[in-house]
Amino acid sequence: MNIKSRYDALLEILRSRPATLKLLIIRNGIFVDGEEMAREIKGYPEKFRTKRSHKDTALVDGFLVDAESGFVPFVPEEIFIEVDRRESIVKLNVNRNSPFRITNTHGRLEIHCNELDITIPVRLSVRPDIHKMKINDRPGDEYVQVLGQDRVAVLGYEGCSGWFYGTQCKFCDACASRPQEKSARPSLNDLKGRFNNNAKNWLAEVEAPYISGVIQAYDKVMKDQAVGPHKHIHLMAGNMDDAEAEWRYMLRLSAAMNEVHSFSNHDSYLNLIPPRHASFLELSKKIGFRNIQFNMEVYGENYYKSICADKHSKVPFDMFLTRLRESVEIFGKGYVRCGFVFGVQPDDIIKKGIRELAGMGVVSDYTIFTPKRGTPWEKRKRPDEIRVANFARWLGTIYDDYGFSPLYCAMSSRSCIMNELRVSDGSPAS
Ligand code: SF4
Repeated sequence: MNIKSRYDALLEILRSRPATLKLLIIRNGIFVDGEEMAREIKGYPEKFRTKRSHKDTALVDGFLVDAESGFVPFVPEEIFIEVDRRESIVKLNVNRNSPFRITNTHGRLEIHCNELDITIPVRLSVRPDIHKMKINDRPGDEYVQVLGQDRVAVLGYEGCSGWFYGTQCKFCDACASRPQEKSARPSLNDLKGRFNNNAKNWLAEVEAPYISGVIQAYDKVMKDQAVGPHKHIHLMAGNMDDAEAEWRYMLRLSAAMNEVHSFSNHDSYLNLIPPRHASFLELSKKIGFRNIQFNMEVYGENYYKSICADKHSKVPFDMFLTRLRESVEIFGKGYVRCGFVFGVQPDDIIKKGIRELAGMGVVSDYTIFTPKRGTPWEKRKRPDEIRVANFARWLGTIYDDYGFSPLYCAMSSRSCIMNELRVSDGSPAS
């Protein structure tokens, strides 16, 4: 099917031009010339949210590193597109062969697609001033990130335990750092290396300076008028071998942040692996989080066990479901979320799971499976666009039936089209 036929078919399913074009752009990627942007755009890349156009990750002496040593141009990490006078954020995947290209005409950025005879105005995502703040000699955005226009994100530490044992989720690519790169964020590479996997000693050294830095950066971001309109607060971390130490640490970090700007006044999320002890759920609610999020990734015990082996070893499938159910009792229906990766198991299985969870009061979100270089599934096929669109439309009816809202809003939800499906125009759809 050529792109025009695909566009027509998707529009018929989704009945929304913003959703259709966002989906096509996410799926096809965009051709963007990072070197040209650096030449033509003042302040690029420093002023904008950018990333290297590719990373070559490798396990070296048991440590996950970015093995690419040559010069790699910076490309936008995310962009805002404007369709039918509505803006929407899109996570950018670089693809030299994409029918969509970003061009720069006299300082005006646009996406062109000749086959669709379409021009879409684009603006880059500006890095908030937080990176100019220096805390312990590190830039403020190593402590607190602003993703999209108004998501305030804090990562507890870098890394995820499964990567050390080859039991990471099969679709997951890692955010590896180059060995010489330093970050303010505590790193599991350090825990495993210098601290011999002793979480207590590691936290004794890294926790206090990191929490103090996070609080300073968080205060600045929360007072920044340019970060808006909502300020969705999202705390997350990968997994640690000592899951209880992880929970205790993340709750100390959360409590310290909540003292400065209360989570209960905002659309706030704690996103970790479910705890083995249910008491942590109550504690999270008491700290002030409005929502709790546990990403199961795939539905069904056998899928979960074989695809997310490390997660399963920490929290088996039945315990995962139990914690979700208990969370609904504490946070309420519609305030417990579960993330899935769409396209890695039969659609009827994931739909069955999502329907069951919805009946419990759990809202499901999704990202679309994309094969990533260096992962066990790099050669696996991704789901086609029609399948994704049908699924998104189906999920929309589940949201309607249960009165659920899409995640964040159209200005901050980068990889799914649920806000655009409802054309929320920046506000969280109700
Ligand atoms: S738990 Fe998350 S970060 Fe860890 S391997 Fe799975 S998807 Fe990746």
